[in-house]
Amino acid sequence: MKATKSSPTTEGWRTAHGPTIEEFQSHLRGSLVQPNDPEYDEARTIYNGMIDKRPRFIVQCADVADVIAAVNFGREHELRVAIRGGGHNGPGLALCDDGLVIDLSAMNGVRVDPVTRTARVEGGAQWADVDHATHAFGLATVSGIFSTTGVGGLTLGGGHGYLTRKYGLTIDNLLSADVVLADGQLVHANADENPDLFWALRGGGGNFGVVTSFEFRLHPVKTVIAGPMFWPLDALEATMGWYRDWLPEAPENVYAFYLVAEVPGPPFPEHLHGEKVCGLMWCYLGPETRADDVMAAARAVATPLFEHVGPMPYPALQTMFDALYPPGYQWYWKGDFVDELTDDAIAVHRQFAQVPTAHSTMHLYPIDGAVHEIDPDATAWNARDTTWSMVIAGIDPDPAQREIITRWARDYWEALHPYSGDGAYVNFMMEEGEDRIRATYGENYDRLREVKAKYDPENFFRVNQNVEPAA
Ligand SMILES: Cc1cc2nc3c(=O)[nH]c(=O)nc-3n(C[C@H](O)[C@H](O)[C@H](O)COP(=O)(O)OP(=O)(O)OC[C@H]3O[C@@H](n4cnc5c(N)ncnc54)[C@H](O)[C@@H]3O)c2cc1C
Repeated sequence: MKATKSSPTTEGWRTAHGPTIEEFQSHLRGSLVQPNDPEYDEARTIYNGMIDKRPRFIVQCADVADVIAAVNFGREHELRVAIRGGGHNGPGLALCDDGLVIDLSAMNGVRVDPVTRTARVEGGAQWADVDHATHAFGLATVSGIFSTTGVGGLTLGGGHGYLTRKYGLTIDNLLSADVVLADGQLVHANADENPDLFWALRGGGGNFGVVTSFEFRLHPVKTVIAGPMFWPLDALEATMGWYRDWLPEAPENVYAFYLVAEVPGPPFPEHLHGEKVCGLMWCYLGPETRADDVMAAARAVATPLFEHVGPMPYPALQTMFDALYPPGYQWYWKGDFVDELTDDAIAVHRQFAQVPTAHSTMHLYPIDGAVHEIDPDATAWNARDTTWSMVIAGIDPDPAQREIITRWARDYWEALHPYSGDGAYVNFMMEEGEDRIRATYGENYDRLREVKAKYDPENFFRVNQNVEPAA
């Protein structure tokens, strides 16, 4: 739909060179939203309700030509530029104050080829769009644990989820990408074409350009045996210790992430509402009869307070948390890679496991199995030998709780950090500075800076977990 804005100018903004706002707008298929427009507040709203940024221009792109026009306009007018995919980024890197946002959310088409078992996905799609399209063919690729998360940010950061032990990270299933570079050129990146760019895109985040489409490998995944198993917090030491010892021996078709949480309202049994718990979220790829053998071992460690594990379509698992965590809640999170879960670290978990609000939580996501089968320098994601990606997330609907959830997440993280690696999954970081980014990429960091210097020497794409171009 073509934009028909009546007030196309932004007060105080002057074009030094390059096209005027009106010329730019007339070339767009999508809409240009500016601060005086009635849609402005909705257009600058993202998932994390804590973020309140005020961009000067929001370009709601309809197609690749709009993305190219937006990149050129941003560059010619020396604007700070942010890229918005699904809008789920914790520190709100989908937006920027005072600059231009390239909003891809209307570009959400998915084309599945069931013969080659591949899907081509536009850069602004959410995982719900992908699951919907691929499930019709009994296929899926590796994504996260929420269907509302964006394909763009999750994939470019690495991506882990229920299928990771069996099929690796999301980037391990990325076959190619179309990218609009800082100079406005559209390039294709895969193992043969621009292989250095393709290497960097797989874990290096939004540093290298706007990815307008991703091509993924799909796997036969239709029905999974999945769901939560909760214990009282008194069982944390026993169950987390068992989980630590069990995971390295577990077959790759069994996935379970460990969590601390509070039992929400319905559909959970009423007598458990508000109970603080620890537990596992299971996802088993295999016959139901065998799943019970796997889970019986966990039940034997301590009697669960509650469990709801059974067969379900894969998209049902993917959407299980969506309603519990709608957009607009306050989120503050911190993460770390965890190589080893020592008894001392488990004692710290026990100390902080009383979540401060009903939605706050800690998750330990397995990063093993198929992830370990790939060399650390094969993609930009360096942490191929870690065991978990941990996130501590303080969450609440009420902005008045902001201080409480932030303090809990920081205190918990600071107490645990001595037992963790120096780096963290870039998608579970707030804005934490260059040292953390360097630690995360480890030996791949310098190579990433070289690729950045080749494809984005002016650091045009810098609203992200930024990798500065090599000098
Ligand atoms: C509720 C929730 C659950 C989550 N669960 C998981 C999980 O299970 N597994 C997991 O791996 N992660 C998970 N995450 C983290 C998630 O991967 C990050 O928040 C990620 O940034 C979200 O991507 P997005 O496209 O929605 O974000 P956005 O905020 O839109 O984008 C984040 C950044 O990604 C870049 N970007 C996005 N799209 C593009 C594109 N097309 N081209 C170039 N750059 C782009 C930009 O730099 C942008 O600043 C979760 C996040 C939330 C809030």
